[in-house]
Amino acid sequence: MSAELWDILNHLGEERERWLGAVAPPIFQSSMFAYPTVEALRAAVAEELDYPFYTRGHNPTVRLLARKLAALEGAEEALVFSSGSAAMAAAVLAFVHSGDHLLCVEKPYGWTAALVRDILPRFGIAAEFLDMRDAGAVAAALRPNTRMIVLESPNSWTYEQQDLAAIAAIAKARGILTVCDNSYATPLLQRPLLLGIDLVVHTLTKYPAGHSDVLAGAVCGARSLIERIFRGPYMSFGAVLSPHDAFLVLRGLRTLPLRLERSARSAEKVASFLAAHPKVRALWRAAPGEGSPGAQLAGANGLLTIALAGGAEAAERFCNALRRFLLTCSWGGHESLAWPLAALYPRGYRGPLPAGLSLDMVRLSIGLEPPELLIADLEQALEQA
Ligand SMILES: *Cc1c(COP(=O)(O)O)cnc(C)c1O
Repeated sequence: MSAELWDILNHLGEERERWLGAVAPPIFQSSMFAYPTVEALRAAVAEELDYPFYTRGHNPTVRLLARKLAALEGAEEALVFSSGSAAMAAAVLAFVHSGDHLLCVEKPYGWTAALVRDILPRFGIAAEFLDMRDAGAVAAALRPNTRMIVLESPNSWTYEQQDLAAIAAIAKARGILTVCDNSYATPLLQRPLLLGIDLVVHTLTKYPAGHSDVLAGAVCGARSLIERIFRGPYMSFGAVLSPHDAFLVLRGLRTLPLRLERSARSAEKVASFLAAHPKVRALWRAAPGEGSPGAQLAGANGLLTIALAGGAEAAERFCNALRRFLLTCSWGGHESLAWPLAALYPRGYRGPLPAGLSLDMVRLSIGLEPPELLIADLEQALEQA
C-alpha cells in the first residue's frame, strides 16, 4: 500500500488550506467549541463524534489522528484513547454483559490479561485464556453464551500467532465479536479488519509514536461498532488523548515506515548473532507465515526474546552488564531496550508462570542505533552472564 500509505501519512485530513498552509497540524488546545446559535449547537451535540463541541468527544487534532489510523487499518472509523490499555478496556466493556463468556488468547499483554482475569469476572463475565495457535481449539472452546474473542497476534513475549481469518470466520458464523490487538505489527505489517476481524486495538505508545515520550491507544472498526464504544466507555470513562499528545503521535506517524523497517532489519542481524551464541538457550521472534495459511503478517518487527543458558541469575547478570540497552519496559522507540521477565516477580520467585514463560527470559526491543554497536554491547554483556 505504498502510495496510499504515504498519502495517508502526509495528506489525509490535513486541510492545510484552512490552516494558513501549516505543514504540521494545529494543536487545538481548547476544551470547548462554541456555536453562534442554539440550532447550530443542537446539531453539534447530536453528532458529537463528527463535530467539535466538547474535547472529550471530539477535538480536531485528536480527530485527525483517528482518521489517519482508520485509513491505515482499512477501517470506517477509529477512536483514540489516552493509552493502549484504555483502548482495549473500552473495546471489551462496550460489548460484554453479565452472563456472557469471553475467550482470550494465552499470554496477551499483561494488563489485557488482568482485565480478563481480574475485572471481567467481577461483573459476571466468565473469561478464559486459550492457546489459539490452532483455530480448531477456538471452535471447540465456544459456548452458547460466548460473546467475544480477544486476540493478540503475534502475542507478547513469545510472538505466537493466531489464524485471524479462520477465527474471524468461526466467530462471524456464531455472531461473536472479535477484537485483535495489532500493536506488534502496526497497520504496516498486518491489517486484521481485512481478514474479517471486527475491531483492532493499538497501543500507539510503541512504534506509532516511536519516541518514548507519549502514551496513546486506538480502536478501529466499523462505524456502528465505534459509535457504540463512543456512546459508552469512550464518553463515560473519558480516557481520551490530549490534543498535544495527539500531535506527538501524528509527528511519530510521519516516520513510522522508516523506523519500523530500520528496527526490523537491525533485529534480524541481532537475532542471527544471538541465535548462534552458546550462552543463549532459546530465541523467539515472530515468523511471517507461521500459524496462518496466508500472508497474514508481512514481516517481523524489532522485538525478540532470548532465554539465557545460565538461568535467571545469568539473565540478571546479562541485563546488569548492558551499556547501550536501557533496562525498562515498553518497546518500539528510537532507543534499544532490554526487559527481563524476572523484573515482574519478586527476587527468587519459584511460583507458577504462564505456560511457556521462564525467568531466564529477556525481551529486547531493537532501536535505531547501528546494529554493530548493539551486537558489541550484547557480546560483552553475554561474556559477563
Ligand atoms: C504496551 C502494550 C499495550 C498497552 O499499551 P499502553 O499504551 O502502555 O497502555 C497493549 N498491547 C500490547 C501488545 C502492548 O505491548
